[in-house]
Amino acid sequence: MNSHVLKKSTILHIDQDKKTQDKYASLLEKHSKHVYKATDSTDIITTYNQYNPDIIVADIQHTDFDIFDLIRKIKEENPYQIIVINTDNHDKDIMLKAFEYDVDGYHLKSEEEDKLLSKLLYLAKKQDLRNNNLQKRETLENILENQSGLIFLTNFKSVSYASNSFLDFFDLSNKDDIYSRYENILDIFMPHKDYLHGKTKEEFIEQFSKARAVNKVVLLLGKDFNPKVFHINLDTVEHNNELFYIISLSNISLMQEKSHEVSHKAYVDNLTGISNRNKFEEVFDYEHKLFTRYKTPFCLAVLDIDHFKKFNDTYGHLIGDEVLSLMANQVNDNTRETDTFARWGGEEFILLMSNTKIEEAEVICEKLRVLIEEICHVIAGKITCSFGVTQIKDKDSLKSIMNRSDEALYEAKAAGRNQVIVRS
Ligand code: GH3
Ligand code: MG
Ligand code: MG
Repeated sequence: MNSHVLKKSTILHIDQDKKTQDKYASLLEKHSKHVYKATDSTDIITTYNQYNPDIIVADIQHTDFDIFDLIRKIKEENPYQIIVINTDNHDKDIMLKAFEYDVDGYHLKSEEEDKLLSKLLYLAKKQDLRNNNLQKRETLENILENQSGLIFLTNFKSVSYASNSFLDFFDLSNKDDIYSRYENILDIFMPHKDYLHGKTKEEFIEQFSKARAVNKVVLLLGKDFNPKVFHINLDTVEHNNELFYIISLSNISLMQEKSHEVSHKAYVDNLTGISNRNKFEEVFDYEHKLFTRYKTPFCLAVLDIDHFKKFNDTYGHLIGDEVLSLMANQVNDNTRETDTFARWGGEEFILLMSNTKIEEAEVICEKLRVLIEEICHVIAGKITCSFGVTQIKDKDSLKSIMNRSDEALYEAKAAGRNQVIVRS
């Protein structure tokens, strides 16, 4: 008999009868790693606790204790402990009782010893397989736990593993709690047109496979109730002939915020918070293309604060800055969403009025001029502004249209300031 696996196992043999004890111990010794012998209850407990044997072979007959009590205690502590009964007792009820207590085998001493050995070998093999799987699983879980993202393993019907980071993100105490909160594991992915989600496994996998790498993103609502963007990756593993998915999620919300911050900075004027020259030039470029292709007109107004130097000289640069910001925001708050108001530099601003002809632009600027006139800074007092306005023409470039606006502005200044001059 090939007892290779059994050879790696230790056995605790329990029998009150010295002769049978020796007989079975020497038989088992030949086929196992080691046999510990115990006869009374204290002996059994100390040996069991000290050596943690892989298999217990026990007789039923004991004068000083009830073996079923002992089996119950051991099985409560470790349901996987292998216990085989080896007895003279033919009583069917006792045999049934033994199985009720979850013993793993029942051998009669009158039967052949080989039968006992093959039973033990079978059980040892089973345990070895289980230990191997446990070990593999433990290694895998260790690897997964050390990943920074959220990871879970699912067949979309149940979740067989969820990393601590996953549980923590959703504030769940264990993986089984997932289903007390979500009917379907896919419900963790918030339905949103820009993010992968789905009601069925098929729908979700199809979306995932079709999405380009940058679009493999999902939206998750965690314990802080603040939706976070995660990059998602799917890998498959086969387990018991069934396909499982390892789903790993990395939080990219921070990266997204950072990139929004960077692009925001690139287009916003630091002092006033309105668009900067960069933004204006981009919009101009786009509007210029629309004009070239579809003849969609647009107008440009250059705004320059009147006698601004006076504010700086009288009240200092900080007050000057406040006046600039006040004026910029008054105009910005009163322009159409489709128009772009930007700081050109210093105390000069520019307004691009999209899909607008000169007559309309003049009305708009006149309205804005009055709105600026209404501003009253607590220290510096009233502010006025001069406007130079013009409409885009064929063959215009940014430079040529700016020149025309500047000429109109110069005219407004020369004519006494606080007015709108149009140059066609
Ligand atoms: P005009 O009516 O002819 O436009 O007169 P003005 O005084 O407004 O024009 P001028 O070009 O002579 O002066 C503009 C001043 O704006 C000079 C400059 O120091 C000041 N200035 C430019 N940028 C800033 C800024 O960001 N903050 C402050 N406080 N002042 C600025
Ligand atoms: Mg100026
Ligand atoms: Mg000025």
